[in-house]
Amino acid sequence: MKLLSVLILFIGLKGLAAQVYLDVHIHDQGNMDSQLSENRILNLMNQESGFNHAFVLSHSYNLPMPDGKDQPKYAKAAFVDMLHTSQLVSKYPKYLSGLCGIRLEWQSLTEMTEKCFNLPNMIGLKIRYARGEKGISSYSKPLELILTKYSEKIRIILLHLPTGFKKQESNSLEARKVVNQEIETLVHVAQKHKNTIFVVAHSGNNPNTVIALSKFKMKNIFVEVSGVAGSVFNNTDKDFQYSDFINSWKTLGVDQVLFGSDIEAEDNLEFASRIFKGEVDSIISNSLLTENEKNIILIENGKKILKFARPDLFD
Ligand SMILES: [Zn+2]
Repeated sequence: MKLLSVLILFIGLKGLAAQVYLDVHIHDQGNMDSQLSENRILNLMNQESGFNHAFVLSHSYNLPMPDGKDQPKYAKAAFVDMLHTSQLVSKYPKYLSGLCGIRLEWQSLTEMTEKCFNLPNMIGLKIRYARGEKGISSYSKPLELILTKYSEKIRIILLHLPTGFKKQESNSLEARKVVNQEIETLVHVAQKHKNTIFVVAHSGNNPNTVIALSKFKMKNIFVEVSGVAGSVFNNTDKDFQYSDFINSWKTLGVDQVLFGSDIEAEDNLEFASRIFKGEVDSIISNSLLTENEKNIILIENGKKILKFARPDLFD
């Protein structure tokens, strides 16, 4: 049955250049190993088993940028990363668009955002959250500030939310409070900025996040699928069932679910291809999703988003 589903989808997709229309989550290695980044992306681009277009995140969001005299040094390093991503995507603008990697706690947030948006083919932001850090509910002011100031430039925001990694943690009262706070903040911001698409990475790391989001019926907030299925999540906590995520997507509505591979900067070429295929296969071979739902997630939603984010490609 599984194999039959796979075959049907392959036949259904035949004629299209790639299995995935849009990958919203690919990392650029930045200035660390530019050749690897480029090879990896070229390898996946526009192939039968690859994507038609991808959003590439600049590595700069990884810089905490301490206060004080080190600021200029870190700001410079962040800009080098942004510049690298812009140069990379500008080589293949038909296939790639760049997202400026930022952190909301940066003192020079406005200045860095401005500098990044002055670079060609940067169409949005990647906002960092890492474990142990505060989420957007603690930084809604700077987020609002740049959204207002650069509303014309910011088509897409991909963001991580501190909404849990392990099932036990994620179901605790404290974790649910964090989930609700983050989602309420996001919804509040997204309601005011309808001309921006917000994408919650890794389905919020937690099906509860997606369920919380589903109550608001927001058309400009999406979740993406990376890390949820085989590769990352199940290795972190086997208690999390993939079916919990699938059910949360269905509650939200699959029209709000996007494909992301989250190919990591450190991955070598073979590993990156394996992760990408693993993420695609986790959708294609999934018996809990109908063929139509798979097509919506892998193709139709991506088309819609790309038309919005890169209308020049459809002229
Ligand atoms: Zn990622």
